[in-house]
Amino acid sequence: MKRVLITGAAGFLGSHLCDRFIKEDCYVIGMDNLITGRIENIEHLFKEENFHFVNHDVSNYVHVPGELDYILHFASPASPIDYLKIPIQTLKVGSLGTHNLLGLAKAKGARMLIASTSEVYGDPLVHPQTEDYWGNVNPIGPRGVYDEAKRFQEAITMAYHRFHGVETRIVRIFNTYGPRMRLNDGRVLPAFIGQALRGEDLTVFGDGSQTRSFCYVDDLIEGIYRLLKSDYVEPMNIGNPDEISIADFAEEIIKLTGTDQKVIYQPLPQDDPMQRQPNIDRAKKILSWEPQVSRQEGLKITYDYFKSLPEEELYKKEH
Ligand code: NAD
Ligand code: UDP
Repeated sequence: MKRVLITGAAGFLGSHLCDRFIKEDCYVIGMDNLITGRIENIEHLFKEENFHFVNHDVSNYVHVPGELDYILHFASPASPIDYLKIPIQTLKVGSLGTHNLLGLAKAKGARMLIASTSEVYGDPLVHPQTEDYWGNVNPIGPRGVYDEAKRFQEAITMAYHRFHGVETRIVRIFNTYGPRMRLNDGRVLPAFIGQALRGEDLTVFGDGSQTRSFCYVDDLIEGIYRLLKSDYVEPMNIGNPDEISIADFAEEIIKLTGTDQKVIYQPLPQDDPMQRQPNIDRAKKILSWEPQVSRQEGLKITYDYFKSLPEEELYKKEH
């Protein structure tokens, strides 16, 4: 039985990864300090014999008894309002946390996959973004704490691979959505759906012409699983190339929720990328992977999830 350590296990993506590896008959150690995660995301796994949860901040020394086959490092604040609120922790988990886990991977002979991001491309000057584009990041801007932590994370991961021979994988994740996102995490999809459910106007930042390309979580998890099992060491984009402007996205949410909310415009945050779309030729060729779930299908499932939450969740303030 493969033994897998998943950091950020109580978060949105980490919890879906735990589900997947349990389904693949692995022994899963989920690690999280709950700074942006929710224990509710993994509570259903507590009855599984093959699941063990450890409450720990991975920016501090990480000790895991026994063997490990795989480490998936997903711990990190991931939404702009989270990493603006906890900038130092964000830098630490991407740098010190990654260093600790690479050391653990080296000691255990484990293969390590890191969650990188489309944010390494910054406000991109190449469109769609291919993996060989080096990016356009403002290192000292407010988003720099996340973007540069992730760029450092990639650099130290490649160094451990080249210098110590650790088996490493790097996934560059583009905007992903689905059940278990926090309704109040500030990301655009939960923000819009939350506003629609509370009967508030939808807040579009800037003029709404900036674009994103949204990937449904099941597609992402499948891509990550295939990348882990492959022997590909260079970074790999995983995302859905179906690009949409944020203004059009707001209209889509209004239609989906059947509400008659208006759109209101608010200032664009500093360094907000103007366009983002993954080029996924590499994933298609090497992993035979491409997204299967349309935005229409994925949004419907996600909306039903948010609707099913207790009403007080809708009014919970950011922690
Ligand atoms: P999330 O906030 O839901 O999950 C992150 C989890 O990491 C949380 O449970 C949090 O408590 C935990 N965590 C943070 N710092 C920690 C620390 N020092 N020690 C232990 N646990 C810690 O976010 P998510 O959307 O699930 O993102 C997971 C990973 O994927 C992150 O590394 C993020 O950068 C990356 N990513 C996500 C997306 C996306 O669209 N969701 C896009 C690009 C990259
Ligand atoms: N956005 C918006 N209204 C909101 C929240 C976000 O218009 O209430 C915009 C944001 O400025 C960005 C896009 O939606 O252009 C995606 O934002 P998100 O925080 O989801 O992800 P990221 O910017 O990290 O891709």
